[in-house]
Amino acid sequence: MSFRQFNLNTQIEKGIEALGYTAPTPIQLQSMPAILQGKDVMGMAQTGTGKTAAFALPILQRLMSGPRKTLRALIVAPTRELAEQIHEAIGGLGRATKLKSVTVYGGVNKNPQIRGLRQGAEIAVACPGRLLDLADQREIDLSRVEVLVLDEADRMFDMGFLPDIRKIMKLLPTKRQTLLFSATMPEDIRKLAKDVLHDPVMIRVGTGTPVSTVSHALYPVEPHLKTALLMKLIERTDTGSVLVFARTKHRTTRVAEQMKRAGFPVASLQGNLSQNRRQDALSGFREGKYQILVATDIAARGIDVSGISHVINYDMPDTVDAYTHRIGRTGRAAKTGDAFTFVTPQDRAFVGDIEHVLGERIERRTLADFDYNVPAPAGSSDAADRPRHSVGRRPARVSGYAPVKKRGDSVHGAPRPSGRRSGTRSLAGFSAFRSSSKTR
Ligand code: AMP
Repeated sequence: MSFRQFNLNTQIEKGIEALGYTAPTPIQLQSMPAILQGKDVMGMAQTGTGKTAAFALPILQRLMSGPRKTLRALIVAPTRELAEQIHEAIGGLGRATKLKSVTVYGGVNKNPQIRGLRQGAEIAVACPGRLLDLADQREIDLSRVEVLVLDEADRMFDMGFLPDIRKIMKLLPTKRQTLLFSATMPEDIRKLAKDVLHDPVMIRVGTGTPVSTVSHALYPVEPHLKTALLMKLIERTDTGSVLVFARTKHRTTRVAEQMKRAGFPVASLQGNLSQNRRQDALSGFREGKYQILVATDIAARGIDVSGISHVINYDMPDTVDAYTHRIGRTGRAAKTGDAFTFVTPQDRAFVGDIEHVLGERIERRTLADFDYNVPAPAGSSDAADRPRHSVGRRPARVSGYAPVKKRGDSVHGAPRPSGRRSGTRSLAGFSAFRSSSKTR
């Protein structure tokens, strides 16, 4: 199967070639014919499946005919990182087309964005808050938009953007093509889809399970030993770029600082950083200056770095969906990757949920020559590491977890519910858990 079958404009084919795509991915194969025909599409697909090109290529194809210097395509995404990535993908695929895309998101000066719009970009990739700001100021005219894409709709819902999305809908022509992508389909997204899509073609690719090119392993460990284990594990393992997830901004910064002091090439990424520092961390990670990036879930949303060989969950995610999203950062576009998850005794029930979704038991591993018996220092806050996720087959989102959306799209985690401070537990607490451990 090649991209030829889609009969795309030769300028677009040049872009595909330049990016080195030789064959369409399953989501591209399934969705592009319908999108090219102008149909509405609801795609259930996680990141890493090639969904950006699945909508970007047909958009470019549509824009090759018809007026230029008019905003004709709007892509709405939950985070600025994802918006940047989509913008870059469009830039790469559309390099020979002379079509222009502009990003619109908060946390940065709006003037360059306004300039880009005034100069007549045909495509805008936007986060909801800044988009509405610019619409209020009449700096963006959505009245001639022909195609709307709502990307990672479930994340937009998680982040509280749904009311903004509904406001944006009112500014768009009713006659348009709408494409909605979401990794999961909670009730609110179903409702939104019903309201905004017209007779959609439904497409599902690899939904519900993390990308199959990733192998998974669990590392049982006491909370206070996590950082030491992380460093030892990275030292011992042949890795490319490593993305480490921690639960809070504070933990993210602390782990990165500890690793930096130990000499690791590491950066951190969390919602409190200035746009410049976020950009430095991301581009440094992408270019290999930092081999390791420690990030929170929100900051890491949509990160697309091709050489990520390992995702390490320093802290267990809150939901199975979040696990799927994190793991989707490696094993992208059919490359293989490893997903390591540190589990404390308190995480035990949640492991069952993940195994249920994966449909298999995840291998437990211990690291040879690592001293698992070092006691927690007196007063160590790590000893209070506590599970955030709910127990059960389909864990509900923990209330207070959903990040608060601020106008301008800068995202900050809401305070979490305070948990019981537990004392240090002995390793015996999860001896059963480690029963099938394999020593590496
Ligand atoms: P996405 O799911 O859109 O974030 O894409 C995941 C990764 O796959 C990105 O790095 C894309 O550049 C890459 N990709 C998308 N389509 C293809 C393709 N047909 N062949 C190879 N790589 C692709």
